[in-house]
Amino acid sequence: MKFKPAKCRVLALGFKRGRSIVDSVPFRLDGGEVRVLDRDSFWRYLGKNMGYQATEKGGEAIKTLEAYCDRLFLSHLTSFQKLLALKRFIIPKFLFQLRIRRFFRCDLRRLDVRIRTLVKAEFRLPNRACQPFFHAGLTSGGLGIPNLCCEADVLRLSQAIKMVNSTDPSVRAVARGRLALVVRRTCRVSEASETLTVEFLNCVSLTGHDSRAYGDAHGLWTAVRPVTKRHGARWFVTEDGLYQLALGADCCQDLGRLTKFLHLKVNQRWKTRWMELPDQGKTVECHSRYGSSNRFLRSSNVLTAVERSWMLKARLNLLPLRSIRGRFRKRVEPSVVCCKCGQHTETLPHVLNHCLPVMDIITNRHNSVLGVLLDSIPSSSSFSRCDVDRVCEEHATLANRRLRPDLILADARRVLVIDVVCPFENGVASMDAAVELKHAKYENLCHSLRLATAKTVEMHTFAVGSLGSYHPRNLATLRAMGVSLFESRLVSERAVVASQRGSHRVWKAWCSFRGNERT
Ligand SMILES: [Zn+2]
Repeated sequence: MKFKPAKCRVLALGFKRGRSIVDSVPFRLDGGEVRVLDRDSFWRYLGKNMGYQATEKGGEAIKTLEAYCDRLFLSHLTSFQKLLALKRFIIPKFLFQLRIRRFFRCDLRRLDVRIRTLVKAEFRLPNRACQPFFHAGLTSGGLGIPNLCCEADVLRLSQAIKMVNSTDPSVRAVARGRLALVVRRTCRVSEASETLTVEFLNCVSLTGHDSRAYGDAHGLWTAVRPVTKRHGARWFVTEDGLYQLALGADCCQDLGRLTKFLHLKVNQRWKTRWMELPDQGKTVECHSRYGSSNRFLRSSNVLTAVERSWMLKARLNLLPLRSIRGRFRKRVEPSVVCCKCGQHTETLPHVLNHCLPVMDIITNRHNSVLGVLLDSIPSSSSFSRCDVDRVCEEHATLANRRLRPDLILADARRVLVIDVVCPFENGVASMDAAVELKHAKYENLCHSLRLATAKTVEMHTFAVGSLGSYHPRNLATLRAMGVSLFESRLVSERAVVASQRGSHRVWKAWCSFRGNERT
């Protein structure tokens, strides 16, 4: 028996900067050159199932995943480790199955619900925690657990586009031929025009055509239609005769980046759905403005398990408060007035930021954020810290003496007036308004300082939300203080943690008065 290189083919896959690439370097074996396949031609050699197939094996894979999840959540790992293992090892293993087998959508949906139930129990989240929170990306404050139904949709769409636009002529011919056949059979026409094909893919009701049944044409192309509709996508044909998919206003022409593009769009969709929720999505926008706000979701040593679980509930507005409980309980609550101060409605912003009996702990939170800012002043800086009364005696005598910014730094050329603020995350606009309010508050003081010192006076704020959102303008504050870019990232992380810990302390102090009423 003799080895024949001419009869062999090589498919060499590699990774470059996180993207899979096809290595086209000539491959020599036994003295002869073996032909290297390009990205799309492996379908020709390995084949791709185009029809409907029994899901016996699919069912097995689902049972295995369920068993894995159950075992994981029964184990003695910490909640954070369980979540990490689920995202990094167990679900990716199943996603590989999703690539090679077909699953019923109802099975995948059941599995998604099962995973969410386990995570809810682990983090002690109430049942009404919204679905987008589990699937939205970490950058927007979600848990980033892949949604299996969406993954199946993404794979199906990307497969369809890659096959119908394949660079390998034979793969493209087979895919287009099959698509035309499905369109002809579905619409009962003898010729599948480009317009009709696009209408078919876009799931437009094919008026004038008898499209009652797919006949025996079930397969990838009939499955693509509902997926297109579900994701609000639109197919169109470019001038080069390529079938492209537009999601919203965007479209990805590069086949190599297509899956990444679709994933990005799915993520955006989860975030939008979450933000649209009037109750649980109010704080999302604030938390997705700066990466450090969500570091406690990425790293286990930032907050303790109790603090993390509390923070998730607080961000989703799921804490037991009178203003919220009334909505979900049949029994009408006697009152929605704060049980501690008895003056205002018992809402989370009131408890964490305004309730008078716990005001000293709220001030402590502000001071701990200020402490982080003080620690960040570089030892090499020429700034000296000074008191407003000492710098500007006229102001102290003329204006209200209580107007004292948290920090005044002065060097030979300029004076920095810095004030720390911890507003509640009632949307981006309210955070910005809190910052603007501080600027307006100290405007007169800055003017007096300018006259008294004859130096440049700059007003800066350092805003960290009470649920850990970080205002982007803080970066300018740190830059003015001479903090390096690398150091300012660390400062942002420390300030967010200080604020989150402080808020948890406020909540504990507030709860200590409530006694039996807590649950
Ligand atoms: Zn109160």
